[in-house]
Amino acid sequence: MQCKDYNNTIMVTGGAGFIGSHLCQKLLDMHYDVLCVDNLYTGSKDNIRHLLTHPHFEFYRHDVILPLQVEVDAIYHLACPASPVHYQHDPVQTIKTNIHGMINMLDLAKRLHIPILQASTSEVYGDPQQHPQCEDYVGHVNPIGIRACYDEGKRCAETLCFDYLRQYNLNVKVARIFNTYGPNMHPKDGRVVSNFIMQALQQQDITLYGDGQQTRSFCYIDDLVTGLIALMNHHQAHGPINLGNPNSFTILELAKKIITKTNSTSNIIYHDLPQDDPKQRCPDITKAKNILNWQPSIMLDEGLDKTIAYFDTIVSQR
Ligand code: NAD
Ligand code: UDP
Repeated sequence: MQCKDYNNTIMVTGGAGFIGSHLCQKLLDMHYDVLCVDNLYTGSKDNIRHLLTHPHFEFYRHDVILPLQVEVDAIYHLACPASPVHYQHDPVQTIKTNIHGMINMLDLAKRLHIPILQASTSEVYGDPQQHPQCEDYVGHVNPIGIRACYDEGKRCAETLCFDYLRQYNLNVKVARIFNTYGPNMHPKDGRVVSNFIMQALQQQDITLYGDGQQTRSFCYIDDLVTGLIALMNHHQAHGPINLGNPNSFTILELAKKIITKTNSTSNIIYHDLPQDDPKQRCPDITKAKNILNWQPSIMLDEGLDKTIAYFDTIVSQR
């Protein structure tokens, strides 16, 4: 990957969130100027506190639902709550973020003639009937369910990207991100990896939804960030491109693994499965391998060890 000499300014919306904070750090390491835009809805200044004094980093508190006029050279558009608990808390805000936010960022990119990368999601496949999921699978989504504010919002955001590409020849890049985990996830984020680790470290009950036989494939944050940058820096690729780790596990396997790794005395307690919770999810990453020469290198055991160490520090500081 090429290092620049601080003459390109990259905007990262959602830059104070989990993925965004790692992306900001990586871009600074690569000698880009970084403008982090975030309304701190689910993100935290704690994730970027160490960057606030960096001479090439700037934070701007702003809601992407409103238009933004800045001069930048590329946009990574990540602003959107990603945890089901948080995106369902205020579904109308989630849809507005997905649609108005996307239009505002696309219009900005169009005015500046710059590339824009949209952080889309495996959720566009809904509760998939094709497994693993390829990019040409059109999905199986309930348009009026409790996940639709996110799933359909992200699907419409993808539509907008490809309409701006066809109509205005805008250089859009759509990454379909599969379950990603790692340090900087909020302890109360509500997603499965952070929930289970926090519960295990505090010897609390592990909240397993359903029978635990649903599957997910987990990508460590460093791998994902490498994939996002590879897509942005590719001269021709527009996507959509799946980015994720193709090794899948049942949620019960994940719970047992985390209990073992943390030497926890926690018990697994079964709860009802939330409505429309996908039964299986696993990326086919052939396109990412062939086009971006990208594949994840950090497997679940190694990634969990790093993530557990992060949350252990948080728990011991309480
Ligand atoms: P996150 O909740 O940690 O980060 C999202 C960030 O966006 C937060 O900092 C939040 O404050 C900010 N934000 C939300 N609404 C905003 C608004 N209207 N204006 C400005 N900022 C706003 O989640 P994350 O896991 O870092 O996800 C980042 C992006 O990646 C999201 O778009 C998400 O849909 C996508 N994604 C993530 C995953 C994953 O597994 N982590 C999977 C698929 C897609
Ligand atoms: N899950 C669980 N316990 C939790 C949180 C999540 O069993 O405390 C399950 C959830 O029902 C889903 C899977 O773990 O089947 C992944 O959930 P997450 O919210 O992390 O992401 P999703 O893939 O559903 O967007």
